[in-house]
Amino acid sequence: MATEKVVIIGSGPAGWAAAIYTARAELQPLVFEGAITETNRMSGTLPLGQLNLTTEVENYPGFPAGDLEQYLDHAMPRPVRELMPPHSRHGVSGPELMELMRQQARNFGTRILTDDIVAVEFGRHPFRLHTLGGQTVQAKAVIVATGARANYLGLASEDAFKNRGVSACAVCDGALPRFRGKPLIVVGGGDSAVEEATYLSKFASKVQLVHRRDQLRASKIMAERMHANRKIQPVWNHELTEVVGTESDGVTGALLTNTVDGTTRQIDATGIFLAIGHTPNTSFLKGQLKLTPKNYIEWTVPFRTNTSVDGVFAAGDVADDYYRQAITAAGSGCQSALDAERWLTHHGH
Ligand code: NAP
Repeated sequence: MATEKVVIIGSGPAGWAAAIYTARAELQPLVFEGAITETNRMSGTLPLGQLNLTTEVENYPGFPAGDLEQYLDHAMPRPVRELMPPHSRHGVSGPELMELMRQQARNFGTRILTDDIVAVEFGRHPFRLHTLGGQTVQAKAVIVATGARANYLGLASEDAFKNRGVSACAVCDGALPRFRGKPLIVVGGGDSAVEEATYLSKFASKVQLVHRRDQLRASKIMAERMHANRKIQPVWNHELTEVVGTESDGVTGALLTNTVDGTTRQIDATGIFLAIGHTPNTSFLKGQLKLTPKNYIEWTVPFRTNTSVDGVFAAGDVADDYYRQAITAAGSGCQSALDAERWLTHHGH
């Protein structure tokens, strides 16, 4: 069995940044970008990560929206400006950004397999990785960048109506006919909830944002955007306790419980979108790598991407439940590539 120098698991910003850097360092990285399966679709773990499930990305540096042609004409020296392609007015979308990162990694020779790693053997070296498709790969160094996935409430009724009105991805499912011109519910109070509600307001007759407190966790700019949107109505101090629906119609409403006085009420909706945080994709690492109490990979050296296993590095949301941004994931992906490269050199590989 041939031994890879570096295998990267995951295909979000962290994975592609790691691939770009290791490829340019001539380490011929092999990326497992994830498998395209119904299970992965349902859990939100398809290739290209969470950014592939969003709309516009407004906070990734380098992609401003707006008519900037004139600005660039003045801001840049003419010979440099003439070499540039026209500026895209719309900024960048999540899926577009991910495709560009993937292509950038390919441009430098990255090899990509559309498969999941389902088990690892980190107790031996070279490490062994087993895929969903039944393949085994050996690697001298591994970078884990498998990210995190959206949480569900864990209700039996929620499970029963997944794909028939219950979703954790407005961008994937929001444009479906069953949601058009209909009342919808978003559960949560963070940036994701507001982002999903804003997106869904384009299709829905109205969006009720059900939050268990009376204050949003979302950033101020997102909260202001929500309050300015007449189609979004916050429902404060309520939890969703049951998804209501029928076999023939799917979701028709939700039972809500007041978190202050315990009273319940039912509201109509054809769709319920969960936006209540994330779980790291680390189940395939159990017993092989030190995880935090919340199952994120533990970084073991300050300001480095090292893990509890020498030669295994972690990057992005799989090891970061604090920043969780595309730019920080890409940054730690770069760090992990440099850490892996130095580790390989140091160990004579
Ligand atoms: P989050 O900030 O952790 O918010 C999760 C929300 O869900 C919270 O409001 C929480 O309520 C609620 N929640 C959690 N468990 C719940 C349960 N069992 N029942 C009911 N409600 C529950 O997660 P996020 O919104 O996904 O954001 C994650 C990170 O990504 C953040 O750093 C965010 O800034 C970033 N993000 C940025 C953008 C953007 O900039 N465009 C978009 C999306 C996400 P409590 O508030 O009561 O805890």
